[in-house]
Amino acid sequence: MIDPFGRRITYLRVSVTDRCDFRCVYCMPEHMTFLPKADVLSLEELDRLCGTFIRKGVRKLRLTGGEPLVRRDVMKLFRSLGRRIGTGELDELTVTTNGSQLGRHADELIACGVRRVNVSVDTLDAERFRQITRWGDLSKVLAGIDAAQKAGLKIKINVVALKDVNEREIPDLVRWAHSCDMGITLIETMPMGEVDADRTDQYLPLSLVKANLATQFTMEATPERTGGPARYVRVLETGGKIGFITPLTHNFCESCNRVRLTRTGMLYMCLGQEDSADLRAVLRSSNDDAVVDAAIDEAISRKPKGHYFIIDRRHNRPAVARQMSLTGG
Ligand code: SAM
Repeated sequence: MIDPFGRRITYLRVSVTDRCDFRCVYCMPEHMTFLPKADVLSLEELDRLCGTFIRKGVRKLRLTGGEPLVRRDVMKLFRSLGRRIGTGELDELTVTTNGSQLGRHADELIACGVRRVNVSVDTLDAERFRQITRWGDLSKVLAGIDAAQKAGLKIKINVVALKDVNEREIPDLVRWAHSCDMGITLIETMPMGEVDADRTDQYLPLSLVKANLATQFTMEATPERTGGPARYVRVLETGGKIGFITPLTHNFCESCNRVRLTRTGMLYMCLGQEDSADLRAVLRSSNDDAVVDAAIDEAISRKPKGHYFIIDRRHNRPAVARQMSLTGG
């Protein structure tokens, strides 16, 4: 799959559910309206679609959400997709999780061929964790991380940088992650979907975070590129890496190798744009994989050059109407 700008699409992110057991303030309103179950792709349909993408050249798959590990029987999907690593069709199967269910799934994830997991932890202060996630329990997440490491999973911590909330804690989060042999990636808040809070209040440019980190750490840029939005530095004092995802202050689209599938089978060719293709309708209309192939090819031919995230300060509106939990972060 090659898009009109010559980018090879090798990475599929799949949101397997929009439901979540947390209500992070920057991600969802507390009383979120979820999609009707009837609209949702079954695990078999998700498996079939993922299989089609793999056949068409996807080498890396990330399951996300919502919280992927709260979907009932989601391990069936992991097991089925994991088999494709064994056959050499897929290089990597990964997951992004809030960690609340990691403790009970860690061993099985390893058995399915998962080797790396991203866990979102915005603070190490239990009270602040509760404020940010509304419903989360930090001790359960930390226990989940511990279990995952013991099972042999490599962990990367995702931190959304929030002005006046975890801003001053970020150097400590870096020290903690690196001391536990985990990478850490800092993310700027992206203006996606209505939340209860004011976006402009939460927004903290990573350029400021980086400048503050530079007063405490010696950071060396690394040439590492994953085709994704992160830019990495190595911290000489800890030996660990920090990734920076800066959609608002830095454009990361030129090397984009990914597309995103929602749990209703909508394919989004860009996280920051509304254009999509309804693969569920195609999937349910025919058992013929050629029809699905053609719909995917047509969608890839519409992949835009880049996104247009802005925080609309005048109207205080999100730049993209759908929540991150729909397309997966
Ligand atoms: N539930 C899983 C988790 O917590 O990692 C996976 C889904 S979550 C939507 C994926 C990532 O997106 C998390 O690291 C989360 O913090 C981040 N995220 C959610 N909404 C965001 C926003 N508006 N701006 C930036 N990052 C966001």
